[in-house]
Amino acid sequence: MRAKIIDGKAIASQIKVELKKEICLLNNKNIYPGLATILIGDDPASAAYVRMKEKMCEELGIINKSIRLSNTITEKKLLEIINELAQNNCVNGILVQLPLPKHINEKNIINSIPLNKDVDGFHPHTWGKMMTGEETFLPCTAAGIQEMLIRSGNNPEKKHVVIVGRSKIVGLPLANILVKKSAGANATVTVCHTGTKDISHFTNQADILIAAIGKPEVITADMVNKNAVVIDVGVNRVEAPEKKRGYRLVGDVHFDSVSQKVRAISPVPGGVGPMTIIMLMKNTVKAAQLANLK
Ligand code: NAP
Repeated sequence: MRAKIIDGKAIASQIKVELKKEICLLNNKNIYPGLATILIGDDPASAAYVRMKEKMCEELGIINKSIRLSNTITEKKLLEIINELAQNNCVNGILVQLPLPKHINEKNIINSIPLNKDVDGFHPHTWGKMMTGEETFLPCTAAGIQEMLIRSGNNPEKKHVVIVGRSKIVGLPLANILVKKSAGANATVTVCHTGTKDISHFTNQADILIAAIGKPEVITADMVNKNAVVIDVGVNRVEAPEKKRGYRLVGDVHFDSVSQKVRAISPVPGGVGPMTIIMLMKNTVKAAQLANLK
């Protein structure tokens, strides 16, 4: 393989060590960061994500309040639970795992999370602050991608970053973060989506290509240039009868061919996933620090 691997797991481990020190300092002042994780229903992928977040809380010494709710919960009841968590001083961050059941209005739920506990960074006011460059909680996947670029020696400054995907969770916040006139950003950003004519025309120009598409192996070797750094955000289950669990995880990038051509690439799994989780922890620690500022 030609490409250098951008090891998200290893980078997340470095940040974990840094966070442990910060948490220790807080504990010395009798401050114990707390994160409430709400999982609704029994979607296996959502359950797996929440389990990973809760495990990381445990490893770091972040107090986790784990809330499991049935698919039949009403929006009103869910809003009451969030309101209780909003009043609870032991809870610094509230995470509601998305997607929600269809009968619950996602916007109402996101809007009900108090800004000082919005560690996922999805509240529209948090977004407003992000857009205007005010200090706030950045959405975890986007912040994690910026951090993994910087820490792997691929600072996006002055680079042409091409993002494929414009979701509110990944593409849009990432474009906003990387285009800012600030350290670790200051990139020229192009965002592609299903309305883009000839995506390859743009992806081939990328110094840094971010694939956040949600479809297996869409980015192929003919779509990238040999100096590119590729970050694969996608997590897709594809059938694999030979595997015990019946599927395997692949990214939005065709890893086998693209990794033969480009300069660096992040793998799936072990790339963006661990970075998202550690940035959630970082936001939770920051929320605890801010809540205890004298
Ligand atoms: P999403 O909400 O479905 O958005 C996908 C985006 O890709 C949309 O903007 C869509 O364009 C665009 N798109 C879809 N097919 C395309 C194509 N053939 N060519 C060009 N653009 C295309 O997905 P998401 O929430 O951003 O997630 C993307 C992937 O990242 C998923 O696999 C998800 O599981 C993964 N993910 C991973 C993490 C992690 O921590 N590892 C975190 C978040 C998401 P339109 O806007 O025009 O529809």
